[in-house]
Amino acid sequence: MDPRQREDIRRRIVELIETLRSDMAMLEENAKPVDLDQPIGRLSRMDSMASQALGARSLAEAKVRLVRLEQALRQVDSPEFGFCASCGEEIAIRRILAMPETDLCVHCAQ
Ligand SMILES: [Zn+2]
Repeated sequence: MDPRQREDIRRRIVELIETLRSDMAMLEENAKPVDLDQPIGRLSRMDSMASQALGARSLAEAKVRLVRLEQALRQVDSPEFGFCASCGEEIAIRRILAMPETDLCVHCAQ
């Protein structure tokens, strides 16, 4: 991996972290408990409870991804970055740009 690619990856990680943070702010809003006293119909209440559950799940997933992306950002300069943790082969640059938080090549991830 040349320094320019590394720089591209670093920028991509920072960009993904920013997007994720703003998504999480939105999800946190949705994950707030449903106010059962609110005068809304039964169907829309079920609807909002369902979207709350969905929001809480996505939020948990987003938090996990954020931690892994921050870890990738710290490791991007290390010589081991970009190599598969399982087989030691270089991970395809396209894969790293799509998911910088991964430490497995496409074969080992399957
Ligand atoms: Zn591998």
